[in-house]
Amino acid sequence: DNASPKKPDWIRVKAPTSSGYRETRKTLRDNNLVTVCEEAGCPNVGECWSQGHATMMIMGDICTRGCTFCNIATGRPNDLDVFEPGRVAHAVGKLGLNHIVITSVDRDDLDDGGAEHFAQTIRAIRRRAPGTTIEILTPDFLKCGPEALETVVEARPDVFNHNLETVPGLYPQVRPGARYFHSLRLLQRVKELDPAMFTKSGLMVGLGEERQAVHQVMDDMRAADIDFLTIGQYLQPTLKHHAVVRYVTPEEFDNYARVASAKGFLMVSATPLTRSSYHAGADFERLRAA
Ligand code: SF4
Ligand code: SF4
Repeated sequence: DNASPKKPDWIRVKAPTSSGYRETRKTLRDNNLVTVCEEAGCPNVGECWSQGHATMMIMGDICTRGCTFCNIATGRPNDLDVFEPGRVAHAVGKLGLNHIVITSVDRDDLDDGGAEHFAQTIRAIRRRAPGTTIEILTPDFLKCGPEALETVVEARPDVFNHNLETVPGLYPQVRPGARYFHSLRLLQRVKELDPAMFTKSGLMVGLGEERQAVHQVMDDMRAADIDFLTIGQYLQPTLKHHAVVRYVTPEEFDNYARVASAKGFLMVSATPLTRSSYHAGADFERLRAA
């Protein structure tokens, strides 16, 4: 039986209804764009889209990996669409966003892991919407040489995010195909290449991790100079996915937030409904104004 325990009442989701939500949806549809908000069945879609905030997913909706928490299809991806960077930039301009999060599936089938496509997308957004800050949430480029990461960093996103997702002991079950220390090192390398760039990472909890192991991951992240941290409750997309082992209580999230702040992260978001892109724009604005 792979069923998760019943959702507690602090995991509440408002039905998406506002006109802002519908406008965002229309712009995304008109430009034939894929979002993580929908693909992952994110519980915050009503709130985020009503504020014109979405996480766009580039390079298709088929992934070469099969993480056990993720609802994206695994298989052989389609060819890259050379017009996609332009379409993304157009939609960002049209939505008039202060901040955009761009992510992608993993493309182990491409020599550069899709690095050049990421870079082109960043440059296209800069041209079309120079006032928008750009956050990217990238794959791990595990099978690529160091130049893949350099290509992305040289395109100068404002925030470079890559999620560690869970504690190292759960990688074989949760993130098969990824390597904890490779992902950590990737973020450290971003900071070495461009010390002015903000780095960010995130964890899901409720997958069976111990609290001490989460604290250890925070220490590892700080040792790799990671600036921002997000921690949210894992929710099971379908019964075929990893079961929720436990719903972490709001008090425990508050504790994680306190511990993380004490460890020196510049920005911490740790609540049950935190997702790596949740309130990303508002948090970033606050930080820049500080
Ligand atoms: Fe989309 Fe992120 Fe908001 Fe979820 S939290 S709806 S993935 S922007
Ligand atoms: Fe999902 Fe990313 Fe894992 Fe692919 S690499 S299965 S998109 S979490």
